[in-house]
Amino acid sequence: LILVCDDDSMQRLLIRQCLESEGMRILEAKDGYEALELVANNAPDFVFMDVDMPGISGIETCRRLRARDDAADVPVLIVTGADDQETIDLGFEAGATQYITKPLNWPLLGRLVKYMLRSAENLQELKAKEDHLRYLAYFDHLTDLPNRRSFTEQLRRNLVNSEKSKGQVGLIMIDIDHFKLVNDEYGHSVGDQVLIEVTETCKDNLRYHDIVARLGGEEFCILLPYTNAIQAEGIAERLRGKIESMQIISEGYRINVTVSVGLSLVCSDDFDGHDAMQRADHKLLEAKTNGRNRVCA
Ligand code: GH3
Ligand code: MG
Ligand code: MG
Repeated sequence: LILVCDDDSMQRLLIRQCLESEGMRILEAKDGYEALELVANNAPDFVFMDVDMPGISGIETCRRLRARDDAADVPVLIVTGADDQETIDLGFEAGATQYITKPLNWPLLGRLVKYMLRSAENLQELKAKEDHLRYLAYFDHLTDLPNRRSFTEQLRRNLVNSEKSKGQVGLIMIDIDHFKLVNDEYGHSVGDQVLIEVTETCKDNLRYHDIVARLGGEEFCILLPYTNAIQAEGIAERLRGKIESMQIISEGYRINVTVSVGLSLVCSDDFDGHDAMQRADHKLLEAKTNGRNRVCA
């Protein structure tokens, strides 16, 4: 779908004829305002842009188009009579992908559009891959939770951004009890289902600003901003109870799990939360050695 923006109706018609013979569909705009509206409503794959038009110029239209999130990457070909250095620079600075001058070479034009569309597609694929890699670097694929790296970064950011909330940030460390037995008895995919449902129970029972992450294996960590010791213990105990009472049904098995929970508060001199994570970890170990299915704070 190609948008042709030009105030000259003959020029639009000629471009239309050239591209329709290549199997492309055409939208026409007679000025910049119309073009911006068509971009917003139709998300074209390619834009032809004249420069000198009534109302806003093609250069300004291009600039406004690039400011839109949904049109940041659409190829824009400036097609104009203006061949001076200054206008050419303005065009590229406004975000044009390519710039050609009239009179047009029609056989070249069709090819140009085709190859510009191809590079736009390649770029999109690259960006999608990059997004996916970023996701893998920061999220856990099974539960969709932030991973350890993401969690420690968010914890640090949380502590830097809110000086006042120091000493009022809780950390909960959770580890599923005897999880290896779940895998051994019911298989790894049932184990995966347990991890997913424990995740859901945690998310369902937290407040919107709490952050739950999967640190690895069957170990989770929760950041509780604006939380004092009494509130944190209440949350930890509630979570433990909710998980204990879950009925997980997977592959025909009915499974119950319990968790051991370690709890700490971030001290005012702990700038990145590292110390608090270590203390929560020690408390988790204490909960394990004291019989599991309990909170140690
Ligand atoms: P404890 O009560 O002392 O924590 O015992 P545990 O069996 O839970 O702990 P252990 O560390 O011995 O075993 C953890 C198990 O978690 C072993 C590992 O195979 C399993 N596990 C780790 N990641 C995954 C996963 O993504 N999916 C599944 N299904 N199992 C996992
Ligand atoms: Mg465990
Ligand atoms: Mg473990």
